[in-house]
Amino acid sequence: MRPEILFPLYAPITSLKGVGARVAPLLEKLAGPIVRDVAFLRPHSVIRRDRTSVVAALEGAVQVFEVQIDAYKRPRAPQQPWRIEAHDDTGILTLVFFGRFGGDLEAKHPVGSRRVVSGKVERFGLNLQIAHPDYLLPPERAAEIPAFEAVYPATAGLPPRTVRKFALEALARTPDLPEWQDAAWLAREGFPSWREALAQMHAPEGEADLSPQTRHARRLAFDELLAHQLAMAQRKADRRAAPAPAIAAGDIAPKIQADLPFKLTGAQHRALTDVRRDLAAGEKMSRLIQGDVGSGKTVVAMLAMADVAAGGAQSALMAPTEILARQHFETISGPLSEHGVPAILLTGRDKGAGRAEKLRALASGAVKVAVGTHALFQDDVAFQNLQLAVIDEQHRFGVAERQRLQSKGEAVHLIAMSATPIPRTLELTVYGDLDVSRIDEKPPGRTPVATRAVPMNRLEEVEARLHQVVAQGAQAFWICPLVSESELVDLKAAEKRAEELRQRIGPSVGLVHGKMTGAEKDAVMADFADGKIGVLVATTVVEVGVNVPNATIMVIEQAERFGLAQLHQLRGRVGRGSRESACLLLYDPPLSESAQKRLDILRKTDDGFLIAETDLELRGGGDALGLRQSGFPAYVFADPIAHRDLIAAAGDDARLIMQRDPEFVSERGKALRVLQELFDWRPASPLKDAG
Ligand code: ADP
Ligand code: MG
Repeated sequence: MRPEILFPLYAPITSLKGVGARVAPLLEKLAGPIVRDVAFLRPHSVIRRDRTSVVAALEGAVQVFEVQIDAYKRPRAPQQPWRIEAHDDTGILTLVFFGRFGGDLEAKHPVGSRRVVSGKVERFGLNLQIAHPDYLLPPERAAEIPAFEAVYPATAGLPPRTVRKFALEALARTPDLPEWQDAAWLAREGFPSWREALAQMHAPEGEADLSPQTRHARRLAFDELLAHQLAMAQRKADRRAAPAPAIAAGDIAPKIQADLPFKLTGAQHRALTDVRRDLAAGEKMSRLIQGDVGSGKTVVAMLAMADVAAGGAQSALMAPTEILARQHFETISGPLSEHGVPAILLTGRDKGAGRAEKLRALASGAVKVAVGTHALFQDDVAFQNLQLAVIDEQHRFGVAERQRLQSKGEAVHLIAMSATPIPRTLELTVYGDLDVSRIDEKPPGRTPVATRAVPMNRLEEVEARLHQVVAQGAQAFWICPLVSESELVDLKAAEKRAEELRQRIGPSVGLVHGKMTGAEKDAVMADFADGKIGVLVATTVVEVGVNVPNATIMVIEQAERFGLAQLHQLRGRVGRGSRESACLLLYDPPLSESAQKRLDILRKTDDGFLIAETDLELRGGGDALGLRQSGFPAYVFADPIAHRDLIAAAGDDARLIMQRDPEFVSERGKALRVLQELFDWRPASPLKDAG
């Protein structure tokens, strides 16, 4: 139930003065449907108005003058402006009005009247002028001209000044709310009350007041982050409260492990230990395993599935594409079946009698591990006793899809896997409701991918060299960027490149692009994996996680257009075997400074987490990392970079609150309920839902 105190904020925007049928849709687009959304609009700049005289006027500044109107000069041609000559004791000022504005000016501001005028001062020849003054008022109304005026985001049909009026009215309707922050923390940070912070946000008196580091901005950001962290902590707590089968480490996994041709890395060990602790706890696990491509996440999942099988229950491993599912199956079915754990592969290709037989084996429990695609959660698929779901490339699945797989059993444990490195500072905001294990160490013996930036004017050299190595049996990816608005245009460019490469290199050039169906893509990828294709030209759809050990060259055209994280992901397609690999970043010179830095960091390191952290710094977050796609919340006040320290603090605070007052019954607890309602971030909201 929404606390009554918030009712004014939850009123529709049409309750604001002047927001009628015409304005409402515009304002809603800009802010949102309720008064709160308008009160939360943030000014992006501020106009400061000094009162001055003509002789002391500063060109380019917005200033206020008191003048007398002397004469009107009509436009002599339609494209000419109206000019009003005016003066004060120190000089002459011309007011200029283009277009239709001229008509009724003279009646409103007759010759001889005194007026206070405000606007940006320009020089026109020898004269000073103001084009379209922002205020033109009789002196007795001078107080209406604000000395500082916050400038709000605007939209066609809704100028900043109007938006400001609405924002200030929404603010005026905003009640004082009970304090939900810890008193000691407030004192330490010097934070104003919430209402005061919001008021200060709307009353900047200079650029400094717009900084994300002002006390009011930090307070508002912290409130928002705390609301979000609390919501996630509650979800986590709810999940933990749900009992799930306790699964002990069995005797199969150690045998499989002993047979592996390698030893687990320390990071793999830690992840496996985390998973085993969760599985044994009798609470539902939701754990994300984050690790670069090739860091060895699959092995960890396989060993967990072996534990589940040792207890007599079933697991499912779901991948977003058929080819990935197939590769997983090839990797894990051998070691598993070797030790008495039967596994099947189930994809969209299974049809008829073959499929029916697989389904029977799952339903009867004869099969303990199912690897597959979306085919795994179709309605007629039933498990005898599904206890663990593993989702690879978890961001490629929707919440509903993950839940459908989990609903194939009772209280099914979840392992989600992701190769998108999220910087540690952001982990909490993106995955706060999951437990996270990071595999931040690569298996030994990998030769790092030699990475070079090459200007586009050396394309022919690159192609010639590619010809040589492909003739010797190497395989290469050639990535064409998505540059235009139209996929079709990009596709044309990729087709052209493929054709050109075919002429230089020979027929073994394939093309895969976003307009192909899943099956078509899979077929081309399979040919590439089988070595039938030497150079695979692709728009950026190269499947994450596809393992083509023989592919040793990655060429990326217009690399400067890609985000760092994306480049890193692409580069991760090669260097998977023991052979030397190369990544060529082709660019159109000249490079901007930030593009230069991005390409530099790639040459220097292969650590996905470090790269993600750098990307965050260089590009200022936002969507540079594909954060939205990976579930990064759309905050109003909090900025993932500027408020990084607050993210961690809010996470700590949320955990503490959940320990001390999980039901929110204390005085502070009650206030925290208001906070959550204010941001509408309750446990039930569709955040990244993994449990
Ligand atoms: P990810 O899913 O994290 O991209 P995979 O699990 O597919 O990585 O592992 C990539 C490759 O590395 C596989 O061929 C796998 O057998 C191998 N591998 C995994 N762990 C190790 C290890 N500790 N030492 C050597 N090779 C490993
Ligand atoms: Mg993988």
